[in-house]
Amino acid sequence: MEECIFCKIINKEIPSYILYEDEYSIAFLDINPINKGHTLFVPKKRFDRISNIDDEYIKNFYRSFTKFLKLFEEKISKDYNIIVNNGKKAGQAVFHAHIHIIPQYNEDGYKNIFNWDTHKLSKEEAEEIIKKFNS
Ligand code: 5GP
Repeated sequence: MEECIFCKIINKEIPSYILYEDEYSIAFLDINPINKGHTLFVPKKRFDRISNIDDEYIKNFYRSFTKFLKLFEEKISKDYNIIVNNGKKAGQAVFHAHIHIIPQYNEDGYKNIFNWDTHKLSKEEAEEIIKKFNS
């Protein structure tokens, strides 16, 4: 795999604002924050997407993740969204697995970062997906 921007950050070849790091993970501020404190939580070993992190690594990664979230809740914001873009069509631009942690500060209503365009789930749609998943 070619060098990626997050590997460069991990290897300190390019600067970033690092909140936390340990043997398995690093958390640094997103260069284009949605809200103040928008953070990327990243495994130090490169996997292209979150679902491909191997079984051994994920245990340590998840342990650092929950440790970091507790610190984040204490020091930055108790309320936040966690987002993972998996794949190009889902908006993934950097193919080194990462988790967005986006703080929400408003007392009366969160900043809607999704622009959900929803529809009512029909019986047909639900059955189609159940059938597809089980085939
Ligand atoms: P994705 O769309 O792949 O889920 O998100 C990639 C994120 O990485 C984007 O939110 C983008 O702003 C952030 N990003 C891209 N390049 C850099 C960089 O060089 N430094 C930092 N700190 N963030 C970056």
